[in-house]
Amino acid sequence: MLHLILPSDLDALRELLDENPESLLDVAAVVNCLGTCGLCERRFVPVAPLVESLEPLYGDSKGLHALLRHNQYISLSEAICGFCHADPGLLNMFQKMKKL
Ligand SMILES: [Zn+2]
Repeated sequence: MLHLILPSDLDALRELLDENPESLLDVAAVVNCLGTCGLCERRFVPVAPLVESLEPLYGDSKGLHALLRHNQYISLSEAICGFCHADPGLLNMFQKMKKL
């Protein structure tokens, strides 16, 4: 099923994402890995579950991780998007809010 929607190999996936970084959101929707940022409510893709979901398809979790982590919609966090995660000021605020 996934093979019908997603590119058949990592190179094809890389090409797809180079052409249109936003298509990562579609890929993530297909494998049910789409998240919503707890801070700015932007749609984003937490990298860990996405790599886990795509690994059976491509069989190369290291390659997948290296390929995906440069995508602007990827976040290392599962709760907040990469844009907020990259902003230490916002991140601090978020952590303080959680402690309240
Ligand atoms: Zn955000």
